[in-house]
Amino acid sequence: MRALVTGGAGFLGSHLCDYLLSLGHKVICMDNLITGTLDNISHINDEKFIFIKHNVTEYIDIAGDVDFIFHFASPASPIDYLRLPIQTLKVGGLGTHKTLGLAEAKRAAYILASTSEIYGDPLVSPQNESYWGNVNPVGPRGVYDEAKRFAESMTIAYFKEHGVNTHIVRIFNTFGPRMRLNDGRVVPTFIYQALRGEDLTVFGDGSQTRSFCYVSDLIKGIYKLITSDIHTPVNIGNPLEMTVMEFANLIMKLTNSPSKIIYRPLPTDDPKKRRPDITKAKTLLNWEPKISIEEGLKATIDWYRKRI
Ligand code: UDP
Repeated sequence: MRALVTGGAGFLGSHLCDYLLSLGHKVICMDNLITGTLDNISHINDEKFIFIKHNVTEYIDIAGDVDFIFHFASPASPIDYLRLPIQTLKVGGLGTHKTLGLAEAKRAAYILASTSEIYGDPLVSPQNESYWGNVNPVGPRGVYDEAKRFAESMTIAYFKEHGVNTHIVRIFNTFGPRMRLNDGRVVPTFIYQALRGEDLTVFGDGSQTRSFCYVSDLIKGIYKLITSDIHTPVNIGNPLEMTVMEFANLIMKLTNSPSKIIYRPLPTDDPKKRRPDITKAKTLLNWEPKISIEEGLKATIDWYRKRI
């Protein structure tokens, strides 16, 4: 089979390319490299793999069959989408439209990388797929949240109106090798700070929660979903919830770091709680995460240690 991965040179996209190649598929990796990097795919030496530099908000022209489309292109860290607000809206809006049009033309199975951000600062916890969310459309995170909400609507519309075989994965916080060191997200930031003996910057009082999933678990869940007959959104993430403060302490323990914790202001609209209800993925896909946070963090820390 032949797959297109948009955002294929990004963190999740590049792991997806690796996984698809390991299953024997041909992979077209598409990226405009504004947040992705060729370093993430430079290890791939496989005649079944090609890279195309292209911005998916523009018309996508691919000759021949395409069996799967994974639409993973988007800035995905808060500092990236604050820096690139219009491009974030365009890739979620226009990019989703272009990739869905391609899926229709090629009769490909399609999956949209959606996000727990569509739940905004949730008023219920854990979040299950029937929760509609609590999003500030004009706040700093609105460009990402609303682009992904629009993208979900567009994806469902292509399923209903054109019968495209679409799928929507709501991805919760994920970590692993290849997250950009300076992308501002809590995992690479704390690991970088701890390994360099710098103070760990906890935003707010550190009582806000997140639930972190190791990348290999997430990728397997995504593949199960695109090959399923489930067209409604499915949460994929690890339900183990912890506060940012607990997470900072865990990183310091695993790195044996002499660092201390310092406090910085909580960014505007930073969600106070985030934890996936994964009952749907467990029941319908027989998927749940297998890698413990300690195990995943050890592998991630080892990877960063070689690069710092
Ligand atoms: N955070 C933090 N210090 C940092 C970076 C992030 O305390 O240096 C917090 C941030 O305020 C948020 C959580 O860690 O509550 C996760 O942030 P991240 O940027 O990784 O992603 P988010 O889940 O907010 O999209």
